[in-house]
Amino acid sequence: MLIPAWRARAGCGMTRERGRVGATLRCVVPTLTYPALMATVGREVVHTVVDGVTVEVRRSAKRRRTVSAYRQEGRLVVLVPARMSRAEEGEWVRTMVARVAASEQRRQRSDGDLEQRALELSREHLGGRAVPASVRWVSNQNSRWGSCTPAEGSIRLSDKLRGMPGWVVDYVLLHELAHLLQPGHGPDFWELLGGYPRLERARGYLQGVSAAAGLDLSDE
Ligand SMILES: [Zn+2]
Repeated sequence: MLIPAWRARAGCGMTRERGRVGATLRCVVPTLTYPALMATVGREVVHTVVDGVTVEVRRSAKRRRTVSAYRQEGRLVVLVPARMSRAEEGEWVRTMVARVAASEQRRQRSDGDLEQRALELSREHLGGRAVPASVRWVSNQNSRWGSCTPAEGSIRLSDKLRGMPGWVVDYVLLHELAHLLQPGHGPDFWELLGGYPRLERARGYLQGVSAAAGLDLSDE
């Protein structure tokens, strides 16, 4: 098997640029040991599904030492050297699917990040008066983007917000923070949010998403 020779050194050359996750390969196997692989030349594109992810594998004769992957129109494009064997390709595709998923997960905000952001927004827009006891993501919230229990000081954000622009998530967070000071949606409440520069844009964005997805989600 040639796979270990490729894989053994794959971990040391991680590269990351413009949303791409890459790995540098240093092939130390003499090329004579796999003449059949060398017969594959030019570009070839193969579509496959791995762990529920639609993958497009592009083999390139120009590519010699690197495997990289990036998202494009709902699929994961994996670029591999043309001389790589099918078995190696399969291994690498699975590796890259897992690596991209892990990378995307890291980019998502954690509960801790949310708490941190809540304090910043409170300082910036509410004079630091709203101090939540807890802020967390929830997946069981189907009719609201966010909710809060003022008596407990707890704020919950729907994980449907994940992946939306930061200024939209910020708006929902600020909205719930303001409820710690004003439970209802009267003029006093909206006055608290008056300083948020993208207030109407964020509300419009959420209404648009809601309508497009046929959801009945409200920001109130
Ligand atoms: Zn509200």
